[in-house]
Amino acid sequence: MLHNHIKPLIAGNWKMNGLVASLTEFKTILSEARIIDQKADLLICPPATLLQAFVIAADITGVSVGAQDCHFNTSGAHTGDISAEMLADIGAKYCIVGHSERRADHNETNAVIQTKAEAAWKAGLVAIVCVGETDAERVAGKALEIVEIQLDGSIPSGATSANTVIAYEPVWAIGTGKTPTVDDVASVHLAIRKQVISRFKTHGENMRLLYGGSVKPSNAKELMQLVNVNGALVGGASLKASDFIAIAHSV
Ligand code: PEP
Repeated sequence: MLHNHIKPLIAGNWKMNGLVASLTEFKTILSEARIIDQKADLLICPPATLLQAFVIAADITGVSVGAQDCHFNTSGAHTGDISAEMLADIGAKYCIVGHSERRADHNETNAVIQTKAEAAWKAGLVAIVCVGETDAERVAGKALEIVEIQLDGSIPSGATSANTVIAYEPVWAIGTGKTPTVDDVASVHLAIRKQVISRFKTHGENMRLLYGGSVKPSNAKELMQLVNVNGALVGGASLKASDFIAIAHSV
């Protein structure tokens, strides 16, 4: 199975980081982006407070801006929440759903994440659905089983290679500086590829599978060259323009 024809996506998840002053860092990313344009698509998901400013700054640069979460309803009595329609309305193109920090901090279940992915599609956004095992699950030898259950439960049946990106992010590798071995990443990504092909046929063959968890300039190259790794979801290192650009160059 060769899936190197898929154009990689290098996505930055800024999490709850960034103030108006961070626009300067984002503009540095934008100014370097032209060189990478042909090799990979670039995306930054800032906190909601910066979304509109980033969309305006990104304008015709080809860099996309996305959100980190959405509500599954279009509108209504959900204080503090933001709908996918609102995100699309201000120019977001992608929405991360089911990040492990949301699964943990907000008790998001696979079923909830599935409805969020559907809401994202309905608004015209690409859903980046995150899956990944905890340390205890990996130690217990259950990594593949957990990822399979999460994929099955959180990806709606209408997924296509255009409306869905999958991010494999082992929870124990997020923000810890630890990464799985390349063999471990390769084997989980192959299992994901097989599962999405069996469910979504050609769309599964073409779906982008990102790796996330302590990706940095020094380890990006060996991870990005794996056959079923079609880009990265980058947390901490995406906050620094030079690191993010170096990661993008590694594809
Ligand atoms: C993430 O939270 O999506 C992530 C991958 O974080 P980090 O790169 O900091 O491990």
